[in-house]
Amino acid sequence: MRGLVEQANKVFLENFKPETCFERAIFYSWACKLDKCCTFCYMSTLPKELRTKERVRSIPSLLAETIICKKLGWDYGFLSGGIGVFSDEKMVRLLKETNKILGEKIWVNIGVLSKKQMEKFKPYIKGVVGTIEVLDPGLHKKICPSKPIGPVINMFRQSKEIGLKNAMTLIVGLGETIEDFKLLEQFIKENNISKIHIYGLNIQEGTVFEGQDPPTKEYQAEWIARTRIAFPKLDIQCGIWSDRAEYVCILLKAGANSISKFPALRKFGSEAAKKVENEARKAGRKFRGSLTRLPEINVEKEVGCIDKEYRNLTAKKLRQYLKQMMKGSS
Ligand code: SF4
Repeated sequence: MRGLVEQANKVFLENFKPETCFERAIFYSWACKLDKCCTFCYMSTLPKELRTKERVRSIPSLLAETIICKKLGWDYGFLSGGIGVFSDEKMVRLLKETNKILGEKIWVNIGVLSKKQMEKFKPYIKGVVGTIEVLDPGLHKKICPSKPIGPVINMFRQSKEIGLKNAMTLIVGLGETIEDFKLLEQFIKENNISKIHIYGLNIQEGTVFEGQDPPTKEYQAEWIARTRIAFPKLDIQCGIWSDRAEYVCILLKAGANSISKFPALRKFGSEAAKKVENEARKAGRKFRGSLTRLPEINVEKEVGCIDKEYRNLTAKKLRQYLKQMMKGSS
């Protein structure tokens, strides 16, 4: 195992600078309207009336969080939320404003998009993320009964045709074994994947996984290391949670580019946030941006590039977030 991680670290350093950063995924809504929930998801523990009730954020709140990402030096992971919650026109406006703040296009993780939708969003997006989670067909059917892989593969094929990139999510600890790595290798090759998010299962109370041990850092690292060695230039995110900061060093050494799934706003400046940064240093990586220190932010200046319609409310929201973050900042 140690030899594998060392080899992966070597491959990483041959292809990337010795740096890392935190990557933030931004959600515009929360609900799950599938017939049958994924068995690992906390949504599966909620009664149908509760889990299907969409909680939608305002555009100014999303733009304020985007400004925080930029100012703190975090990468913008992807924009995520329920499909059809925003009309395509509203989505285009959100994407456009987000691009203005970041000065670049973004990834979207908003379900299976049609070719027509991808064409509409194309001026503002780098590519699409497919939530694959687990590749063994039997396990996938059991764990994600209403989220078949076929339509995602179809979206990946069409996105490639129109010149977009493809990314995928994978959760380890769902019952697969490392022998299944060959399925991942084949999937990445066949579907033109240029970015992967490798999460370790976060066990939710009330789900079928309750009482089980979460995947160890060595196991998650092995998936990342094998992926890095097989795909030297792939963009790999490692997903951690607030209680897994000590996973960071080995996951980065295994070849992850950046760290996601840490609750960075809520835990800003916390001991766990400090640990994430320290673990990155232990792995020999420079940590770009910060999870602990808040820079001076001129709110009026930052909202200046946004459409007038959203400007004042975004400024208000941004001040609220900063106040909350200031409490933990060193
Ligand atoms: S993980 Fe599965 S159950 Fe949870 S919100 Fe996504 S689709 Fe729904």
